[in-house]
Order: sequence, then structure tokens, then C-alpha cells
Amino acid sequence: MGEKTHYDVIVIGGGVVGTAVLRTLSRYQLKAALLEKHAEVGWGATKANSGIVHAGFHNKPGSWMAKLCVAGNQMYDQLCDELDVPFLRNGLMMVARTQEEEEILQQFYQQGLANGVPGMEILDGDAARRLEPNLAEEITLVLRASTGGIVAPFELAAAMAENAAANGADVYTEVEVAGISHGDDGFTITSKDGGTWKATYIVNSAGLFSDDLARMCGLDVPSLIPRKGEEYILDQRVGNLVRHTIFPVPTPKSKGILVIPTAEGNLMIGPTALEMPYKDELSTTAEGLDEILSFTQRLVPKISRRDIIASFAGIRSGSPTGDFIFETSHEGKAVHLLGIESPGLTAAPAIAEHAAEMLAEGGLSLIEKPDFNPRRPKVIRFKQLSDEEKEEVIKENPLYAHVVCRCETITEGEIVDAVRRGARTVDGVKFRTRAGMGRCQGGFCTPYVVKILARELGVSPLEITKRGKGSELLTAEAKSFLKGGETNA
Ligand SMILES: Cc1cc2nc3c(=O)[nH]c(=O)nc-3n(C[C@H](O)[C@H](O)[C@H](O)COP(=O)(O)OP(=O)(O)OC[C@H]3O[C@@H](n4cnc5c(N)ncnc54)[C@H](O)[C@@H]3O)c2cc1C
Repeated sequence: MGEKTHYDVIVIGGGVVGTAVLRTLSRYQLKAALLEKHAEVGWGATKANSGIVHAGFHNKPGSWMAKLCVAGNQMYDQLCDELDVPFLRNGLMMVARTQEEEEILQQFYQQGLANGVPGMEILDGDAARRLEPNLAEEITLVLRASTGGIVAPFELAAAMAENAAANGADVYTEVEVAGISHGDDGFTITSKDGGTWKATYIVNSAGLFSDDLARMCGLDVPSLIPRKGEEYILDQRVGNLVRHTIFPVPTPKSKGILVIPTAEGNLMIGPTALEMPYKDELSTTAEGLDEILSFTQRLVPKISRRDIIASFAGIRSGSPTGDFIFETSHEGKAVHLLGIESPGLTAAPAIAEHAAEMLAEGGLSLIEKPDFNPRRPKVIRFKQLSDEEKEEVIKENPLYAHVVCRCETITEGEIVDAVRRGARTVDGVKFRTRAGMGRCQGGFCTPYVVKILARELGVSPLEITKRGKGSELLTAEAKSFLKGGETNA
């Protein structure tokens, strides 16, 4: 139910953009909150994307996308260091196979120079294959950008929310904003279940639904274009096929279908780009998979259907102008962030700075907090520790000796830590720790994750959900198993 606090700023929508805005605001002497409709932050486009920190050569010079992509890219080292989020500058390669593609590739190189992208070079096919031996023989020219990177996007959003909360911000989940009105006492925000929140300023960062929210504020904005992207994850066994993220030359609608190393050591292939009539259709399809395989095998022929272990789809909030759209209403007291499609993940930290500037232009006072702590307590990733470090950690907390997810070697200690940092669901644990992301896709560890979640949250296992209300995992019959003291995970 609604809180009675009158907030200085309420951020609506807890994707990577909203959580970045909240963390930025938590640097200042003001009271900020975030309202998110899902059970946890980061479950919109933020959870289901390619995780690439783009270099910035894809976007038109002078556009918001170009400016904020390049600026956001440069903020990533410090951001991920402060928040202990997996991030690697693995570099990007755009590859050409024909003379026509070579000409387009050269145009992107020039565009990158105009956008101020550092660290770009043009390589012939053989030079590129010396760096990436598994690239197709037919590739003749490559644009390489050393500043390109990969990040764990869900972890980033969760970490920004966690750090903002540690600095005094409030995060409310399972709050779906259904109405916004404005009067003498500022904004009244009403949720679908009848709660109310009050704020002097609001930021609309509701992703694909930000057009609906802008209209609630009286703005006449064009509809966003839902554009689905399917992605397929390959087994860690083939995680080293390429080190760089490999792009074809793009199409007018998307950056094309890519081969993407992930921050966690898998390889991913995708995404497709299909305009949809709905905002919530997240199926993956045989046609999507065939399209992705045929494209990516032209880039890296060793990619094989049999190495696919999982698939997902995300929906981009396609911008009708082809650029990020920033609007204000209520004399600058409401800031609307619309059309944050790719490179929205890359640009998010810079979008947050821009949103704070827009709020300041609307009159919000931004006075730095002397005690702002940008650092999040370090996460223990057991598998990555040396044998000596593992022994130390287990001595301190024996729960780290108990491996729950065998595919990914995730321990009970890590799962308990994830719950203490905010995980409330099986997916929340999965995306924070990787428990359930391996070859068996949670077939083995899910019951144990449910049990640990129930114990840590002090609720019945029957209440534990996969991803929020309506996705309860157990029926009453399963209760006896969970009560029976089975702990041999
Ligand atoms: C397949 C795919 C691949 C991509 N790859 C990349 C990439 O490699 N690099 C890159 O830079 N970008 C990439 N993008 C784009 C990137 O994912 C998005 O730009 C970014 O995640 C947008 O973040 P967001 O916070 O605006 O949106 P979201 O993550 O969608 O967050 C919006 C939030 O608002 C909440 N919300 C909506 N309505 C309400 C309401 N009424 N009340 C309360 N909460 C509400 C939603 O639940 C959601 O959590 C990709 C996108 C897709 C789909």
C-alpha cells in the first residue's frame, strides 16, 4: 500500500534507466523513491538484452543516441568497479564480406570518428583472424573498436537499486502505476491496487510503457514501437569461440544478428528484430532460431545448434523518431524518457545524468550529500576464487561449502547473500547468482533454491514464485518434500 512520505522525486520504472536515475539522485540531499510493477527491478528489456556496452559508431552524429552512448560507455569502468558488477572491455568487430559491405563499414568508421569514439581501427580479414581465428574465411574487412564491452545487465540494475537504497532511496516493487495527477501539493501517483504516492517531481522511465505514462501526464506523444528480439545462449564449453563481440554491417532497423560473448563466460547469438502488435509477447520461435543460426554461422562457422542451452526474447521500445526522446511536462517537474531502445543499456548512466540535469532545470535543488557511498559491498563469486580464498570464505561461513547449482558451481552462501541483497524470487536468485543458468537450466537446483528463499524470507515454500505473483512453483503436495529435511543439494 502507498506510503505517506512526500518524496522530492519518484522514479517510475525500475529498468537499467530508472535504477541509474535513482542511484544518481541518491547522491543528493533529497528523498527519492522508485516504483516498479514487477516483483524485482530489471525485469523489462533490461533483463533480456545482449549486454553489449556499445562503442558508439552505430549512431548518427549529433543524435542523443550517439552522444549518450559514447558518454555512457566511458562511465562503465568506474560504475562497475564501484558496484562490483561483471564488466569486460572485450572489444567489438563489425565485419564485411563483400565490396558493398566494405563500403558501408567504412561509413561506420567515419561515423565513429565524428562521434568521438576512441580506439577504432580497420583491419583486413587476415589481421582480424589473427585476433579471432574462428572468424569466417570470407570476411575481408573489419572495423574493430577496443572500447566495446560486455556487462551483466540485470546485475547492473539490481546493484544500482541496492546502492541507491543504501544511500537512502526507497524501492517499491509490485507497484504498477495506473494514474498520475497534479495539484497544489505536487504529483499524486496511484497504483493499480489502490496505493498512493506523493512527489514534487517525477521521472517516467517505464520503458516500453513510458508512452502510456507520458499520456497520463497530458503529453501527446507518438506510440512506441514494440520490436521483439530473440536470443540463444550457448554452452560455456564453446564460450571461447570468439573474444570480441562480432557484428555484421547493420540493417536500417537493427544492428543485425550478432555473436556475443557474455560477461558470465557463455556465448550468445541474436537478436532478431521483429515489430510486434503487442508489448508483452515474449515467445521464441523455430523461425527466429533458424534465422539467427544462418546469420551467425556466416560470421563464425563453428557455431552449432547442438550447443544451444537456453533462449529468451526481449522487447525493445522502438523509438518512432529513431532517437531517444526526452520530454517534460508540468513546467519541467515531470521528466519523460521515451524510446530508450538500443543503445539504452550503454547510455543508461549518461541518460541518468541528463535526467538529473532536466530535473534541475525544472527547479529541483541538487546539493551533494557529503556521506554518499558509491560502493556496494563486494559479492563473493565462489567459482572465481583461488583454492586458498575458497578455504578462507568457507571458514568464515560454512554455507559457501554447500554447492547448490552444480552446473554453475553456485553455493548456498551466494544464494543467501542474493536474498539479503534483495532477491525475492527464483528468477531474482538466478539472475543475481547464475543458479539455474547452466546446462540443466535449474532442473536440479530449483527445489533447493525455493527452500533457501523460503527460509531466508520467513515464508512458506508455497509462496515462493518464479517471477512474482501468479508464478508460484509448488502445489501443496510438494510441501511434504520440502518439509522432509531433504538437504542433499
Ligand atoms: C533483444 C534486445 C537486445 C538489446 N541489446 C542491447 C545491447 O546489447 N546494448 C544496449 O546498449 N542496449 C541493448 N538493448 C536495449 C536495452 O535493453 C534497453 O535500451 C534498456 O534495457 C532500456 O532500459 P529501460 O530501463 O528504459 O527499460 P526496461 O528495462 O524495460 O524498464 C522499464 C521498467 O518499467 C517498468 N514499468 C512499466 N510500466 C510501469 C508502470 N505502469 N508502473 C511501474 N513500473 C512500470 C517495467 O516493469 C520495467 O521494469 C537491447 C534490447 C533488446 C530488447
